[in-house]
Amino acid sequence: MGDIVNYSVFSRFHSEVGKFNLKGKRLLIPDMAPFGARLLASCFRAFDVDAVVMETYRGLDLGKAYTSGKECFPCQITLGDILLHLKREKERLGSAFDPNRYVYFLPESDGPCRFGMYNKLQRLVLDSFPEFKNVRIAYLSTGDAYSTEGILPEEDASIFRKLAFVSTVAADVMDRITWRARPYESRKGSVDQLVREVLAHMEKVIEARGRELPFGEIFDLLGEAAREASNLVDRSIPRKPLIGIVGEIYLRTHPASNQGLIRKIEEYGGEVVDASLVEWISFVSYERLRKLGREIKHSWNIKALKKLKELARSWASLALEVAWQNLRQYQGYRRALTHLDIEPDHTVWRIERYLKRYDLFSFEIGTEAALSIGGAIAYVAEGFNGIVNVFPFTCMPSTICSAILKPILQRLRIPFIDLAYDGSVQPGRDMAIRTFIYQAQQHQKQQQKRHPG
Ligand code: SF4
Repeated sequence: MGDIVNYSVFSRFHSEVGKFNLKGKRLLIPDMAPFGARLLASCFRAFDVDAVVMETYRGLDLGKAYTSGKECFPCQITLGDILLHLKREKERLGSAFDPNRYVYFLPESDGPCRFGMYNKLQRLVLDSFPEFKNVRIAYLSTGDAYSTEGILPEEDASIFRKLAFVSTVAADVMDRITWRARPYESRKGSVDQLVREVLAHMEKVIEARGRELPFGEIFDLLGEAAREASNLVDRSIPRKPLIGIVGEIYLRTHPASNQGLIRKIEEYGGEVVDASLVEWISFVSYERLRKLGREIKHSWNIKALKKLKELARSWASLALEVAWQNLRQYQGYRRALTHLDIEPDHTVWRIERYLKRYDLFSFEIGTEAALSIGGAIAYVAEGFNGIVNVFPFTCMPSTICSAILKPILQRLRIPFIDLAYDGSVQPGRDMAIRTFIYQAQQHQKQQQKRHPG
């Protein structure tokens, strides 16, 4: 066995995939959620990390060429993004190309999902190109609730974490402003133009003054964006059916891979709310709190008092951070809500309550399925007219979600559609989406009859 296994291949999963000091490096960030990725890059730049968001989806052929076809679709897309980016850099710089200058940012998650394996697989692929072997892969992990220690100096790590969180709230709120106003804009393209300008302004503020945590300025920009978006709305257009999107986070938030789903729903006559980015961060912290709680109980039972003290300290510090995050999220939404009635976010605690009420699934099982199932039920309780479950073809948590949601939403008489993507164009998909929107319109009419005004 020792003869046939090349252990140095596996040792590179530890030496070249991990938490590295990013100072002075060019950090390559995959373009997942357009607002979120750009604001995250500006947070890194505030801490002297030369972060850029890579062009996305153009390298999909490369991603597919270096995978077997059994991998998750987001893994193929992100692999294509990094390969294309590095190849172009090499062409651009020629002999001056230095792989040691680059760090590829690819977070991971623990648990049963394959997301934890993307960076290992992609390490193997990068290692197969001698010229890219020295490009390291940096990650943040759900295992420690996305702790940033190790990638930035100790004195910067906690400030960065706060800044990145508030930037993520800002990205979510900007998304919601866009989705609330765009279907009703009086001049086509005006809302997109507005949010593009606000985003560019916010990036500059974060990059220049991020270290000072300029939350007031960020929230002011959100308020301003909501106020201006509200002025772009044609109030004579009647309210359209409200469609809630749940599913796998990458596919939900990556317009190229979901073939412009949100715009398509808007074009066919719906208004959309996609599950937020912060929902995932809160879920990760919530999971970690629960895990610490279980370990505290175990240490108490076996009377391991020293360990108990350490665990209690970690629990208290994370609980405080979660409370701080909830407050900041509330402030960000409130600033926008003063001017525009965007959809507020539902909390992870509320989602879990729905899961328990319907006895549908358990947070103990983990994965995004818990969020998607509970999130869909929360949308129903909030009066939405249709639910979309969007996911990569063969995605395990989303398939579970589909199996559980379909019968219950049918019972509740809420239109529901599963949309699985793998990069191929399916001729019947548009028709299915149009039919779904028609059903949502009928649902809205019934709802208005039941609750006029
Ligand atoms: S959530 Fe789905 S797509 Fe993402 S890693 Fe898990 S199985 Fe793959």
